[in-house]
Amino acid sequence: MTRATMRAWSVVRPGPVTQDPLRLVERPVPVPGPDELLVRVRACGVCRTDLHVTEGDLPARRAGVTPGHEVVGVVEGAGSGVRGLTVGDRVGVAWLRRTDGVCAYCARGAENLCPRSEYTGWDTDGGYAEYTTVPAAFAYPLPGALDDVAAAPLLCAGIIGFRALRRTSLPPGGRLGLYGFGGSAHLCAQVALAEGAIVHVVTREPAARELALGLGAASACGLTDRPPQPLDAAILFAPAGELVPVALRALDRGGVLAVAGIHLTDVPPLRYETELFYEKELRSVTSNTRADGREFLALAARYAVRATTHAYPLSAAPRALRDLKAGRFDGAAVLVNDLS
Ligand SMILES: [Zn+2]
Ligand SMILES: [Zn+2]
Repeated sequence: MTRATMRAWSVVRPGPVTQDPLRLVERPVPVPGPDELLVRVRACGVCRTDLHVTEGDLPARRAGVTPGHEVVGVVEGAGSGVRGLTVGDRVGVAWLRRTDGVCAYCARGAENLCPRSEYTGWDTDGGYAEYTTVPAAFAYPLPGALDDVAAAPLLCAGIIGFRALRRTSLPPGGRLGLYGFGGSAHLCAQVALAEGAIVHVVTREPAARELALGLGAASACGLTDRPPQPLDAAILFAPAGELVPVALRALDRGGVLAVAGIHLTDVPPLRYETELFYEKELRSVTSNTRADGREFLALAARYAVRATTHAYPLSAAPRALRDLKAGRFDGAAVLVNDLS
C-alpha cells in the first residue's frame, strides 16, 4: 500500500558537499503520469554526476531536485497507458529519462543526441528517495541474477562504459587501453576481457592498478609510462584533457580514442604527425541509447560482470557524496533504502 508522503533528499542550495546542500524533506509520493511507473526505491548508486548536480557544477534545472539515476526498485503503480510492465516487477531507472522520439536524431536511432532529452535526477526527481517515477518505455527490466546493490552501478557507470567501448570499434581480440580506472572503467574492462580483448590500464592509482590486474588486464602502469604494445583502441575515462595526446600517441595506425566523460578539461594542441596522422581517430561519447542499456544489461548478466560496491544507508546520502569527492572508496557507492 503506497503512503501519501515520503522522505526524499533535496538539493536545497547547490554548493560544496561539506556545507550541507542536501536536506531530507517530507514530500507527497509522486503520482505517475499516464505513461509512467511509480517505483519504490530499493537501492540507488552514487554517480559523480550526482555530485555535480549537488554542488552546482551542472546548472540546476529543477529547484530542490532529488538526485540519483542508478535506481533499482519495484513497480508499485502504473499509469493507465502503461503496457508490458506491471506492479511487482523489479526495474532499473537510469540517466536518460525521456526523449521527444520525433527529431532527426531519434528517427535515426541516435536518441542519445536528442536536443529535447530529459535526465533523471537533474530535470526530474531521482532515486535518493523512497519513491520515484519513470516513463515505462525508459525503465529497464533487470536480470534476476543480479542483486539490488550489484545492479545499481551498472545503470550509469556500466552503460556509459559499454557505449564508450562500442564507440572505439575495437576489433575482435584487439588491444585496448583504458586511461583512468574508476567505477565505469572497471565494468567496461570486464566486458572487453570477456569478449577476448587484450586490456592495458593506465592510471595513477596503485590500488586501481591492482584491481585491473586482478580482473585480468595484461598490464597496468602509471601515467608517465606507455602500454607495452601499440593499441587498436583506447578509452579516456579520466576527465583530464592533457591525456588526449598521450593516449593518441599510444595508438597503432588506424586506432581510435573515445572520450567517455561528460566533463573534460581543455585538450592541448595536437601534433598532426604523431597524434592524428595514419588515420587515428578521436571520438566523444554522449549519454546512451536505450538499445545500449538493454544490450549491456544482457551482456553483464551473461559475462557475470561484477561491480566493486560499498553500501551506505539512504539516510546517509550526504556522507556517501562526501566520501566520493574525497576518494575514500574504490569502485562504486550504493545507497540502500533504510527509510521505508
Ligand atoms: Zn551517472
Ligand atoms: Zn529526439
